[in-house]
Amino acid sequence: MAKVHNFSAGPSILPQEVLQKASEAILNFDNLNLSLIEISHRSKNFEAVMERARQLVKELMQLPDGYSVLFLQGGASLQFVMVAQNLLREGGKAAYTDTGTWASNAIKEAKLFGQVDVIASSKAQNYTFIPKDYTIPEDADYFHCTSNNTIYGTQMKEFPDSPVPMVCDMSSDIFSRRIDFSKFSLIYAGAQKNMGPAGTTLVVVKDEILGKTGRAIPAMMDYRTHISKDSMYNTPPVFAVYVSMLTLEWLINNGGLAWIEELNRKKAELMYGEIDRNPLFYGTVAKEDRSWMNACFLLHDPKLEPEFDKMWKEAGISGIRGHRSVGGYRASMYNALPLESVQVLVDVMKEFERVKG
Ligand SMILES: *Cc1c(COP(=O)(O)O)cnc(C)c1O
Repeated sequence: MAKVHNFSAGPSILPQEVLQKASEAILNFDNLNLSLIEISHRSKNFEAVMERARQLVKELMQLPDGYSVLFLQGGASLQFVMVAQNLLREGGKAAYTDTGTWASNAIKEAKLFGQVDVIASSKAQNYTFIPKDYTIPEDADYFHCTSNNTIYGTQMKEFPDSPVPMVCDMSSDIFSRRIDFSKFSLIYAGAQKNMGPAGTTLVVVKDEILGKTGRAIPAMMDYRTHISKDSMYNTPPVFAVYVSMLTLEWLINNGGLAWIEELNRKKAELMYGEIDRNPLFYGTVAKEDRSWMNACFLLHDPKLEPEFDKMWKEAGISGIRGHRSVGGYRASMYNALPLESVQVLVDVMKEFERVKG
């Protein structure tokens, strides 16, 4: 079969060796002659998977004591709710930055639980940059930001020093670069962009920020329930956790965050270099805020799109149509995407220039 270059925005590309191991575990896990998905989550074999996944997260994040690592369900979208329900005090307020569709969804949900101050927004400019000039109020219960805006293709390169607990939605750039994770009190990420299959959400939370809201929280919605049961309060998404564990192992075995940061930098430089060089195309966001994960670009002449589409499809490229709110193209270059795939796309853009320019 011909090679497919998978630029899908999510669910997205996973390392081949991870897919290979995952498919083997579907048939015969740990030499039990049973499938991973037909054994008890309370078996020793699966408990070891959950424990290893937690340890790998801690190792990659280099976290000090006092944090819990959870694998939950409900996607990042449920975290929009759980964050506010668990952290926004009765009568309190939270500070948010509005940098894209996901950030604005998080804001909408938080408003169900109390006052939300949107302290910075790029909405009026169609989310084409990351606001940097804002002050986080000291009387907020927490500050929420989105590290990478998947749909618009912007990314925070630096994080503020927050006077209040900092919460971050890292769904689409988790483990893509080195970050001081200890700056954050809560990090969450749906697995399906950069860590594994859909079905589990990583939550890393500093224990001391919990239990202060004064409201009753249903057990399933309460982080403390899941912490006290090691993410096994109810049946966890066993397959999604297992594949996430394999992906984290792949990352560490290849050199960890320093290695992947360098690879992601190279991919982004190659991609944006061509977008800037090629007179037929242009990037949609402020250069300093460009995402290393999702590169959004347009053709100056949208009438050329069908011809360009034909060309990249023939080259084996998949998944670069832009989100409907931006149009054009979005090349998602998550961790598992090889540099070679970006080179194929760049070569197609060059060839398109040669025939059309
Ligand atoms: C995809 C995405 C979400 C939504 O994730 P679900 O798991 O589908 O709920 C939230 N935030 C960001 C930054 C995303 O990229």
